[in-house]
Amino acid sequence: MAVFLVLGVFLFFLGLLLLLGQETVLSLMSIPKGQAAELAGVVLQGFGALLVLSVALNSSSEIATKRAKQNQAVLLSLTESVSRLEKRTSEFAEKLVALERTNYAQSSFSQCKCCGATVDRRSGFCSSCGKAQK
Ligand SMILES: [Zn+2]
Repeated sequence: MAVFLVLGVFLFFLGLLLLLGQETVLSLMSIPKGQAAELAGVVLQGFGALLVLSVALNSSSEIATKRAKQNQAVLLSLTESVSRLEKRTSEFAEKLVALERTNYAQSSFSQCKCCGATVDRRSGFCSSCGKAQK
């Protein structure tokens, strides 16, 4: 990638020198001064700029892809954490409900078999409807 970038910049400046009619460069490339040199300069500048642009665009899209992947990984781990937390919470809630049931069963109060009112086990009768509980 870096090689193409350097090549693109080099071609761009070579084209600029040709376009400006730089004698040394023209003689080195054995191109006569005039329209041919100008045309070659423009073509080289265009090609160089295209090369630099394509490298820049390519690397920026690579960076974007990399970032998207990182974001995806973070999102995935967050989702896993949330689902683990949900599982733990529901397990805790189940334990709490079970504990509440045990507490109620062990308490001295129960529900009346006839009207459903809260009844003291020791009395044996419902204080609401008066029916025996045994
Ligand atoms: Zn009752």
